[in-house]
Amino acid sequence: MKKISLKMKLTLLYTLLMSGVVVIILILLFSLSSRQILSSVQSRLRNRVYSASDDIEYDNGRLDFDSDLDDTEWGIYLSVYQEDGTYLYGRTPTGFSNTMAFSDNALRTFRQGNTTYYVLDLYTYVKDYGNVYIRGVASGTDAEEDMIIIRNAALILMPLMVLLTAALSYFMTRYTLRPVSRITETVQQICLEKDLSKRVHLGEGKDEIYQLARTFDDMLDQVETGMKREKQFTSDVSHELRTPVSAMMLQCEELLDDPDLDEKTRSGITFLDQKVRYLARMISQLLMLSRADQGRQKVQMESVDFSEMTDMVVQEAQDMAQERQIRIQADIQPGIHITGDETLLIRMWMNLLENAVRYGKDGGHVHVGLSEKDGFVIGTVEDDGIGIAPEDLPRIWERFYQADTSRSRSDSSGLGLSMVRWIINAHHGTIQAESAPGKGSRFTFKLPVGK
Ligand code: ADP
Repeated sequence: MKKISLKMKLTLLYTLLMSGVVVIILILLFSLSSRQILSSVQSRLRNRVYSASDDIEYDNGRLDFDSDLDDTEWGIYLSVYQEDGTYLYGRTPTGFSNTMAFSDNALRTFRQGNTTYYVLDLYTYVKDYGNVYIRGVASGTDAEEDMIIIRNAALILMPLMVLLTAALSYFMTRYTLRPVSRITETVQQICLEKDLSKRVHLGEGKDEIYQLARTFDDMLDQVETGMKREKQFTSDVSHELRTPVSAMMLQCEELLDDPDLDEKTRSGITFLDQKVRYLARMISQLLMLSRADQGRQKVQMESVDFSEMTDMVVQEAQDMAQERQIRIQADIQPGIHITGDETLLIRMWMNLLENAVRYGKDGGHVHVGLSEKDGFVIGTVEDDGIGIAPEDLPRIWERFYQADTSRSRSDSSGLGLSMVRWIINAHHGTIQAESAPGKGSRFTFKLPVGK
C-alpha cells in the first residue's frame, strides 16, 4: 500500500465506498421489490377468490358457475370443491398436484418442482345448496421471473457502477490533486536547477491546497531574499578584504627583499607571507564563487589551445611536486582546441593538480591525461595518494568541505573542487571523481569541443 500513489489510494477508497453503498442500495431494492411482488400476488389472489363466491349459484337443483371462474386473469386459477373435497368446477395450473388439504382463508405457499404456488381457500355458503370451497392458485413463476430480471439487471449494473465510480473518482482525484503535483514539480525544478526564483503560482483558489501553495511561495520569497543577502554579503566581504590583503602581501614581499633582515625576523615574515597568500587565494576563490552564484562572474569564451595550456600548467606544477618527490607524467594529445575561458581553465587544471600533489604520497606519481574523442575533450588527473573514503566522495564538491581534516594542509580551504565543478559546468561539461582509500584518486572531466 506504501508504494501506491495518493491518487490511486483515494480512487480505491472512493470506489470501495461507492461499491459498498451501491451493494447496500441494490440489496434493499431487491428485497423491497421481492416483497412488493409477493404482496401484489397475494392481494390479487384474495381479490379473485372473494369475488368468485358471487359467481356460484344454485338453481333448479344444480350448481351454476359463471364463466368468469374459467378466466386465468392475473395468472390466477380458480376451482370449486364440495365440503368433502370433491371437485366440482374450475381449473388449476398444469403441473399443480391438487393434494393440499383445505384450510379456510389461509394463504399458503406450496412448492412443487421448481415452482412455488400460492394457494388461498375460501369456505363459503351457496344459497340453497350449502357450503363449498373455492380454491385460488397462483403460480409463483411470473413473480419469480420478475425477480430474476431484477437480479440480472442488478448483476450487470453493479460492475458497471463500480467501473463508473472508479473512473469518476480517478479523474476527480487527479483534478483535485493537480495543484499538489504543481507544488512537487516546482520543488523538483528548484532542486534540479538550483533556481530559487521558481514559484508555484497556483492563483487565487480558496481551498487548503491553494493556501499551502501560497505559503510555499511566500517561504520561497523569504529564502531567496535571504540567499541573495548572504551571497551579496560574501561578495562584499571578499571584495572589501581584497585590498588590505593585497597591501599586506606587498608589504611582506618588500620586507623580505631586505637583505639585512635577521634570520628570526625573516622566518616570521615568511610565515606571515604564506598565511597572507593563503588568505588572498581563499578570498579570490570566494569572490569568484559568490559572483558565479549571482550570475555576475564573467566567462570570456575564446578559442584556446587546450593541449598547450595543459602542458604549461603541468610544467608549473612540477616545482610543487618536486618538493615531495612526486613525478608528474603527462599524456597530452597535441593540437586540441576548445572554446573556453583561458583564466578559468588554467585555474581548473591548477586546482586539480594541486590536490593531486597535496593528497599524493611522497615519491609517488601523478598522471595527467588529455585526449579528444567524438567531439569531447577528456581530461584526467590521477594520483596514488591517500584517496577519499566512499562516504566523503559525494561531498567533496561542497564548499568548505574537507574530507579528512586531520590530513588537510593548513593552506587548503575546501573551495578548490567547488570552483573546479563550477568552471566545468560553465563550459557545459561534466566532472566525476573515483577513489580508493589508500590507493589514490582519479578525476575525469569531459568538455564539448565546440562550446
Ligand atoms: P582543499 O582546499 O581542502 O583541497 P578541495 O575542494 O580542493 O579543497 O577538496 C575538498 C576535499 O576533497 C579535500 O579537503 C580532500 O579531502 C579531498 N580531495 C580533493 N582532491 C583529492 C585527492 N586528489 N586525493 C584525496 N583527497 C582529495
